[in-house]
Amino acid sequence: MLPADRAYNPPMSLNEDLSTLFNDLAALMELRGENVFKVIAFQKVSRIIRESNIDFKKCMEEGKLCDIEGIGKGSQQIIEEFIETGKSTVFDEIAAAVPKGLVPLMHIEGLGPKTINLLWKERNITSLEELEKAISSGALEGLKGVGPKKIETIRAGIEAYKAKAAAGPVARRTGILEALTAGEEMVERVRAIKGIVKAEIAGSLRRRRETIADIDIVGAVKDMDAAAKIMAEFVKLAGVVQVIVTGASKSSVKIANGMQLDLRLVPEENFGAALLYFTGSKEHNVKIRGLAQKKKMTLNEWGLYKLDEYEKAKKETAKPPELKPVACRSEEEIYKKLGLEFIAPEIREGRGEVDAAASGKLPVLIVRKDIRGDLHAHTNESDGTATIEEMAAAAKRLGYEYLAVTDHSKALAMTNGLSVERLLKHIENIHRISGKLKGITLLAGSEVDIMADGHLDYEDDVLKELDIVVASPHVSLKQDSQKATDRLLRAIDNKYVNIIGHPTGRLINRREGLPLEMDKVIDRAATSGTCLEINASYPRLDLDDINARHACEAGVMISIDTDAHSTGEFDLIPYGIDVARRAGLEAKSVLNAQPLATVRKFVKSKRDR
Ligand SMILES: [Zn+2]
Ligand SMILES: [Zn+2]
Repeated sequence: MLPADRAYNPPMSLNEDLSTLFNDLAALMELRGENVFKVIAFQKVSRIIRESNIDFKKCMEEGKLCDIEGIGKGSQQIIEEFIETGKSTVFDEIAAAVPKGLVPLMHIEGLGPKTINLLWKERNITSLEELEKAISSGALEGLKGVGPKKIETIRAGIEAYKAKAAAGPVARRTGILEALTAGEEMVERVRAIKGIVKAEIAGSLRRRRETIADIDIVGAVKDMDAAAKIMAEFVKLAGVVQVIVTGASKSSVKIANGMQLDLRLVPEENFGAALLYFTGSKEHNVKIRGLAQKKKMTLNEWGLYKLDEYEKAKKETAKPPELKPVACRSEEEIYKKLGLEFIAPEIREGRGEVDAAASGKLPVLIVRKDIRGDLHAHTNESDGTATIEEMAAAAKRLGYEYLAVTDHSKALAMTNGLSVERLLKHIENIHRISGKLKGITLLAGSEVDIMADGHLDYEDDVLKELDIVVASPHVSLKQDSQKATDRLLRAIDNKYVNIIGHPTGRLINRREGLPLEMDKVIDRAATSGTCLEINASYPRLDLDDINARHACEAGVMISIDTDAHSTGEFDLIPYGIDVARRAGLEAKSVLNAQPLATVRKFVKSKRDR
């Protein structure tokens, strides 16, 4: 049931450690106010490691570290030392020059390395305590760039940080990418246990919610007498770090990423009913149980039964009732007997899908093969890691007809954003390379920054040279609702802006993003012929499912883009498609599910208005 085309490979844990090391190095250096190019270089190395499948240990042993593109001599030495000793002298040196108490401040929302540097250098603040004291005593007044609003933001950030710390890690729901990666690994291991006929992920993970509390797996067995033995194997699986509770039909364990995983075993013939029941959502189950009742039937985790027969039947806990069900083997069968079309797990949220299924009006949800191109991607001209040619080749391998190259604009200095001169040259390059390619067309685009007041980082006479324009907010994401909304409306009003990239700027579990009046933004996008993006890159997934659904209902076109900064990141597209499916989107509402001519027409018709 899980799409087999989800190719995003999780980093091995050494890679994760290395990537974190370089990321922390970059943050510490920025905090110290060091050369911005060094910071960018370390951020880049961190990114390269994070998204690569290279076995760095093996690579080092074979003396091939120097062959990895984008990793210079200095970084190589850091990697080698870390692999050999688990330490880094470079890191220790830099960290020694920064007060220890400053490091936690980096995790407070609203406090960037630059501000922390300022607090340290100008006000001698070296810990959270000192910062709180300085705020309440008014000692921050007069600090350049730290006005009353900023102070208020920092205060709120501290509060949120402390609340999170008090709640502990258990209160946090795990992001979909991490949860799905772990869940798929574990369900494979469950399937390999002798006696398991089949097993599937259920619960909110199967519905592809953006964050997940627990992982649920339902397994089918031929003979329930063998269940205890199977469970004994299960709790010993690789990846299980703690057994919470174990029984013959249900066991709960903690797995390596800290999540709880529940395995339920059911007889093979009841598998469909159990999968349906444990996939949920609760709201969806209430709806279909109500429907069953109307039809004089009853639906539970064992199957769909005739009500009068069920009431008379013998029932024992943890066992199917002793009577012949109307349906139980597969979800398809159960939906059918309820008079419903099959409802995809992603839309089982009790948002009208049951009524739609009853009247044959379910949307034909978009699937991966509907996607014809990516309209938001970066090259090494700004902060990507691959060349135009490499990105084009990767997109072509995925069967894409077109790819928009949309590097950052000049205001985002941290990303090596393009000056006007560089952009014009880049456009020429993209067109020249596109002319030489067969089977794929490159669009010369830009991801132009939407400045705090809504004006764009390039003038119109520059924008008009582009084939397509993505406009995105990147900084000043702490605005009040009106400012934020006006900002986006102003960008949408520009006739050269075709797509609003990651419209809110939120990051799952990390950053709230702009508090937009989404109705207004959607309305203006609809009337102006502007597309809103579902950014498939985790932890963005922005727009979310709810907003994407509202946008689509208002007639707004949606683009599902990976915002790839490397060739491997094109593989994040399934996460964007999951959001789109949860939003009930069909291919016809998705701009990059249309042929290139339609995309060009979309751009032209806004310019011609
Ligand atoms: Zn962006
Ligand atoms: Zn981008």
